[in-house]
Amino acid sequence: MHDSLTSQQAYFHQAADILNLSQNMRVLLLTPQREIKVQVAIERDNGEIATYVGYRVQHDKSRGPMKGGLRYHPAVDAAEVLTLATLMTWKTAVVNLPYGGAKGGISVDPRTLSAGELERITRKFVDEIHDMVGPDKDIPAPDMGTNAQVMAWFNNQYEKFHGHQPACVTGKPVELHGSEGREEATGRGVGTITAATLAEHRQPIKGAKIALQGFGNVGSFAARYLYEQRAKIVGLTDMTGGIWNPEGIAIPELLDYAKTAGGVADFPGCDSLTNEELLAADVDVLIPAALGGVLTAANAKSVRAKYLIEAANGPVMPDADEILLAKNVVVVPDILANAGGVTVSYFEWVQNRQHFKWDLTHVRSQLDKIMADSFQRVWQLAQEKKVPLRTAAYVLGIGRVARATTLGGI
Ligand code: GLU
Repeated sequence: MHDSLTSQQAYFHQAADILNLSQNMRVLLLTPQREIKVQVAIERDNGEIATYVGYRVQHDKSRGPMKGGLRYHPAVDAAEVLTLATLMTWKTAVVNLPYGGAKGGISVDPRTLSAGELERITRKFVDEIHDMVGPDKDIPAPDMGTNAQVMAWFNNQYEKFHGHQPACVTGKPVELHGSEGREEATGRGVGTITAATLAEHRQPIKGAKIALQGFGNVGSFAARYLYEQRAKIVGLTDMTGGIWNPEGIAIPELLDYAKTAGGVADFPGCDSLTNEELLAADVDVLIPAALGGVLTAANAKSVRAKYLIEAANGPVMPDADEILLAKNVVVVPDILANAGGVTVSYFEWVQNRQHFKWDLTHVRSQLDKIMADSFQRVWQLAQEKKVPLRTAAYVLGIGRVARATTLGGI
C-alpha cells in the first residue's frame, strides 16, 4: 500500500479505538464515495499532443458538500489523492464546517507548462468532471501547484456548462468573486495555532526560535504572521536551498527577494542550510510547510524542536510520530494546524451564495475565532483522554463524521 495511505489509516484506527467504532463503521468511513480518474489531453504550444491523468476523489458527504484542493504535482496519483481527500473529511469536521472531504489533482509538473498550457489542462479537466462537482456537491480550491488564476479558469469553464456559479470553486481572485484573506488564510491559521500552542505552554511567542520548511503559499504567510508576532524565524528552506540566521531572518525583505530570485537560496546576511539540518535545528518550533512524508523513522530522532506544527498535509509518518512522542515533542496535526485555508474557503462560498462581500477585518476575526475555538476543543480533549493532540483531533473529527453518518442513516 502507498506509504501515506498506510500512515493515515494508522492514525484513523488509533482514534477509532478510542471512539469504539465497529469494524463495519470503520470500513464505511474509510471507503470513498466516488473516485474519478480522467484523461486530460491538450495540445502543447509546440503543436504536440500531451496526455495527463486527472483525479478527483470524493471521500465523504455525510456532513455536507465535499470540499478540498486541486493539486498539480508530478507525485499526484490515486493513492495520494485518496489519502488527502480522507484528511479533508476529518479536517472540515475538526473545524466544524458544514462540509465533507474531497481532493483532486493532475499528475504534472506545472513549472514545465506555459500559462496557456496550464489554462488548457485546467479547462480540459473541468470538461471531464463538471457534472460531478458543483456548489452543492463538491467544491475544489487551490493546493500545491495551483493558485487563484487556476481557480478563475476553473470557474469560467464550469460556468460555460452551468451558468453563473461562483460558489463552484473557492480560492478565486479577489477581483473575481474571491474572498479577502483567502490567500493568506492557511499561513495565518498556522501562525495562530503556533501562538496558541506556545501560550498553552507558557512560552512567549516573542523571541521564540522557529525553523520553517517551505516558502510557498503556506510557509510565506505563516512566516509573515509569526514575524509580526515578534517570533524569530532562524531557518528556512525551499526548493532552491536553505538559509540560516540565528538573529532571525528579515521576513519582509525575504518576501521581496524571493519574488525576484525565485526562492530563498542565497538571501544576503544568512548562512546556507540543508533540509536535514533544518529538521534537526536547535529551535523551539519546527514547521514543515512543504511536501508530505518529510519526517521519518530515520530523521525524527534528530529533531530538537519542542513543538512541531504540521502546516503541510501529512509531513510526519507514524513511526516518526512515535519517536517524537517518546521525545516529548508536541506535535500539532495538519487537520487542525492547516485548516485555516479551508475555513476561509467556506467564508468565500458563503459570500458567493449570499452575494455579500466581507471585509478583511471580518474575515480575519472569524478565522481567528474558529482556529482558537478548534484548538481549545482539541487541547481539552487531549487533556481529558490523556492522548496526543493528533489523536484528540482525529477523535473530534472522526467522531463528528461517525455521528452524522449514524444520524443520517445509509
Ligand atoms: N488545499 C487546502 C487544504 O489542504 C484547502 C482546501 C480548500 O480550501 O477547500 O486544506
